Amino acid sequence: MQPARSQVPQIFRAIWEHSADAMVLSDDAGTVVSANPAYLALHGFPAEEVIGKHFTVIYPPERRATAQQRYAEIFRTLSLQPRFEAQVQHKDGSLHYVESNATFIYEHGRPVAILSITRDITEKKALELAYADMLAREQHALAEAKRAVSVRDNFLSIASHELRGQLTILSGNAQLLHRRLSARDLAPAEAQLLKMVIDQASYLTEALDELFDLSLIEQGRISLNRMEIDIDILLRQIVARISPTLTQHTLIYEAPKETLTIEGDPMRLEQVFQNLIQNAVKYSPHGGRILVCVERQEQRALITVVDEGIGIPASALPHLFNQFFRAANTSQQNIRGSGIGLYVAKEIVASHNGFIRAASVEGQSSTFTVELPLIASGSAVE
Ligand code: ADP
Repeated sequence: MQPARSQVPQIFRAIWEHSADAMVLSDDAGTVVSANPAYLALHGFPAEEVIGKHFTVIYPPERRATAQQRYAEIFRTLSLQPRFEAQVQHKDGSLHYVESNATFIYEHGRPVAILSITRDITEKKALELAYADMLAREQHALAEAKRAVSVRDNFLSIASHELRGQLTILSGNAQLLHRRLSARDLAPAEAQLLKMVIDQASYLTEALDELFDLSLIEQGRISLNRMEIDIDILLRQIVARISPTLTQHTLIYEAPKETLTIEGDPMRLEQVFQNLIQNAVKYSPHGGRILVCVERQEQRALITVVDEGIGIPASALPHLFNQFFRAANTSQQNIRGSGIGLYVAKEIVASHNGFIRAASVEGQSSTFTVELPLIASGSAVE
């Protein structure tokens, strides 16, 4: 059933009276012509303190002048924002946020009043403000953390560089002394002491090199001097360098059946394989065989280093390539280290578009595998 035309004003009156939304009608001078009960309830004012008064009565006193100016401006320029937010003051003095939808009311084609429908959004606003505050604090904490990391990395790079220079001199002098004094029949205890100084210095040099690399990686400053590499030649050289230093271990090299060419930085890749072989030695305190094997698998070169050492607990395997991670069995066996080498190795291999993984049977053996993409010989970018 359609309502009769004569019923329309009655319907609008009912909406006006019973709406949960606050509604107010103000004329072109800003004087409130009418306000519904929800509006009076929202702002806490009795009708006589609103109707016939300027609509800015609901604003905090210090904002009224600006609100009046803006209202006059809206009528002058006919630029009514259909939706806006404002902070208003309840009769009891408390501050609220409201959101209003406003529209002009026309008479003879000319705007003569504004009808505003208003909702209290104080809770929503409080949530928004709390969220913005939380976001700002999070961003601040993030910036602080980044700053701390950059201070740490700068410190690491300066300290490791400075200390390394001094250590090289110390280590060189200790080795010189060792050679000269040995010739003059150094007492065994003194020779042992001197040997300890040399070993400690070389351990510290390696540790500083690792720290320096770590800081380079963290700052994204590790750069590769890329060239074409015959992986067999590279590994033969590494094995030939390490083999003579071993007394308890046998290093076995299995060459690939064909030439395998990759593109990369030979110095950085040597660092990776040195690290894997030195680890195989270090974590096989009772000696044994260490097998280095190079083979082709589809479009990749697979380099495997297998030892017969203490192995890696299954629970440690997922964390092995994390910074500073060391498996529990290393301290049980008193094997020293910093937990940086494998992290650096992983980053170097990744920068060659390769992959590194570990497998082990604890107490029996560990296997580290590096996969590097092959290229056709002669196609490397110089
Ligand atoms: P580091 O040897 O200085 O502790 P790495 O990053 O090279 O640091 O190695 C991380 C950890 O991985 C070692 O502390 C050790 O627990 C484990 N690990 C690495 N290589 C071997 C291996 N060949 N056998 C057993 N554990 C190994």
